[in-house]
Amino acid sequence: MSARESIIPVFVPHLGCPHTCVFCNQRRISGQQKPAAADTVTNAIETAAAFLPTGGKRQLAFYGGSFTAINAVEQEALLTAAQSCRERGLIDAIRLSTRPDAIDDAVLDRLERYHVETVELGAQSMDDGVLRLSERGHTAADVERASGLLRKRGFRLILQMMTGLPGSNPEKDIATAERLIALKPDGVRIYPTVIVRATDLYDQWQAGTYREHTVADAVAVCAEIVPRFEAAGIPVIRLGLNPTEELSGGAAAGGAYHPALGELVRSRIFLNRARQQLTGVEPGSRVTLTVGRGKRSQMTGQHRQNLAALREEFDLRELKIEENDALTGENLRVLVEKP
Ligand code: SF4
Repeated sequence: MSARESIIPVFVPHLGCPHTCVFCNQRRISGQQKPAAADTVTNAIETAAAFLPTGGKRQLAFYGGSFTAINAVEQEALLTAAQSCRERGLIDAIRLSTRPDAIDDAVLDRLERYHVETVELGAQSMDDGVLRLSERGHTAADVERASGLLRKRGFRLILQMMTGLPGSNPEKDIATAERLIALKPDGVRIYPTVIVRATDLYDQWQAGTYREHTVADAVAVCAEIVPRFEAAGIPVIRLGLNPTEELSGGAAAGGAYHPALGELVRSRIFLNRARQQLTGVEPGSRVTLTVGRGKRSQMTGQHRQNLAALREEFDLRELKIEENDALTGENLRVLVEKP
């Protein structure tokens, strides 16, 4: 999303969701949720429209549930409200998130009628064993079929994947990323598994049958996955759950919840790249690492841990960081002065 784009989110609690994904607390908390109504959509758009800058692209986003799996009458009501705001010029586009097995031609006919532009699919894993253990209720083939239909009909496609689900490991998570790359999405969101209270996953973790996917595990595997997507020209538009008061206040009981997860992953990618480029350097060398403008802190790492690790591993006499406008992303240049 460019700086001139803005998102107006409307959360659609998935009441009566027939699924039981182990990491999701929707079923257990559904008694506390109100169905999203058409006036919620209109109010959200009118309130946001008053504050958003003019000139940029405004997108209404239906998040939080499986939009196309809710009943058709409710979908039509929400889309009609959005569409009428679009006709009034308050928004420019509509996006929504849903499940891969809730996409077919009839569903896409409806989305097309209401000018939905972007569909986000929760793929989560492309390993059928992991999907089964996570009780997702769909297969990897469903993700491929739904992605193919969406692309064929000209929707923008965003895919979501998770790392550290039950039965997964770094190899399976990387294989999932490779299979999602082959589907050529317009972007991806990566959500390392968080153990949220009031979920089956929480119970499994307490019973010792699920091994926690820690922040360190997530950083290590995401530092392998993110560069693969970006090398294929697929932007990673989100890394880790959005921090919320509820999650930070105790709902996230374990797993890969960290408000700055994206920063930690970018920092690890820098460390991995510096390690590769320093392989074979003579002990006692003086090294200068040049990174893009504003990337110094990511290269340095939290508590300077990247620098400490490199100094020790390669027995460096001196290690400096410089910034240069010509470098972008996690690209870096290494200058070595031999001892
Ligand atoms: S994550 Fe799974 S259980 Fe939760 S709302 Fe979506 S489909 Fe239903």
